[in-house]
Amino acid sequence: MNTESLSADRLAATVERALAAQPIVDMHTHLYPPTFGTPDPNVTGRTDPAGLLLWGIDELVTYHYLVAEVYRVVPASQLPYEQFWKLSKQQQADHIWKHLFVERTPISEACRGVLTVLHRLGLDPNEKSLDAYRGFFAKQDPGKYIDRVMELANVSSITMTNPVFDDNERQRWLANPNVGSDPRFQPVLRIDPLLRAWPTAAKRLNEWKYPVTEEISASTIQQVRRFLRDWIDRQKAIYLAVSLGPEFRYPAAGGDAVARAGQTILEEAILPVCAERGLPFAMMIGSQQRVNPALGDGGDMVGKSDIASVVNLCYQFPSNKFFVTMLARENQHEMCIAARKFGNLMIFGCWWFLNNPSLIEEIERMRLELLGTSFIPQHSDARVLDQLVYKWDHSRRILAKVLTDKYADLLRAGRWVTEADIQRDVRLMLRDNFINFLSR
Ligand SMILES: [Zn+2]
Repeated sequence: MNTESLSADRLAATVERALAAQPIVDMHTHLYPPTFGTPDPNVTGRTDPAGLLLWGIDELVTYHYLVAEVYRVVPASQLPYEQFWKLSKQQQADHIWKHLFVERTPISEACRGVLTVLHRLGLDPNEKSLDAYRGFFAKQDPGKYIDRVMELANVSSITMTNPVFDDNERQRWLANPNVGSDPRFQPVLRIDPLLRAWPTAAKRLNEWKYPVTEEISASTIQQVRRFLRDWIDRQKAIYLAVSLGPEFRYPAAGGDAVARAGQTILEEAILPVCAERGLPFAMMIGSQQRVNPALGDGGDMVGKSDIASVVNLCYQFPSNKFFVTMLARENQHEMCIAARKFGNLMIFGCWWFLNNPSLIEEIERMRLELLGTSFIPQHSDARVLDQLVYKWDHSRRILAKVLTDKYADLLRAGRWVTEADIQRDVRLMLRDNFINFLSR
């Protein structure tokens, strides 16, 4: 290993090489191994219970980012939403491909992502129809194709999101105790309704033989704890997670009974069980659900969140560990400052509407300046397997640019920068900060 300082002109190439060579532990995705089933693209858009492993051209092109984008150019007055959702997945994909990729230049980040995937798979991204791609994907075996994608993206481990209140998914865990044991995938217990909709969650817990009451009592708390422990054990979850709206406050605002119930569940059940098991609690904050419900998953809006609430939690629960990401660009600076105050707060990723080159660059630059290398710069949030290729390809490129600038600044200050320094830094940011936080 080269321990001599690099010269400024060799920095960029060395940083790019180190980033390309570092296998990534992707800390948050919505991907699944083949044991969770895979849907048939010939079947109408929304079938339940559909398989959960999404991959291939039709899923890539009908990603909800692109459904939202196609409705900007073919509005609902021309194609009513109900009509779009009645089409088969292939028909939906043909519609999006025609309008966003053939009749217009596919310049948005979500469009560009599809092109990067095709290109990296060795396919020509200039086809006018999707048939050639469909031929390629039809020949792939999902299990082996996962290996191919992980190799292309240089991802060594994929972290799932496993929502226990989703019937389709819960049934699969109950029916097959080994459903989550693919060594390429790590499970995460997702529990949104416990915090966001206690009355509904309470009803479900009763159905599942955890006797609880809507009015929270000591025995209700014991049952929620038992429920969480049972599912942590069943899934072998590596952390717990929830997505919260921009209105989330800790402590909860006075008049809202559901939010107050959620707060009690958080304080008395979720955080104590996380602490007892040494598991972090992940909060993804700022998605305002379904401002246009007809767009389905694409219908969520961004809202500015309250970082004082995160600070209160980090302060009041020092034996808990928190992963936090926020959806609003306006929250990113304040969140960096919060992370400077609390070692039990690990900020991560550039989520959803932030996953665009201009914003990723700005956010990573600021994080490096305020936090050194002690954060997790990115997660893929991939919902379609193949997206791992583009999300990490594009993010690595931006990290290379930002890190090269930062190392050049160090050289100017007279500090040596060696290849070993760079390799250690990218290993921390793309893998070890996450792993070390889990085991801390
Ligand atoms: Zn997500």
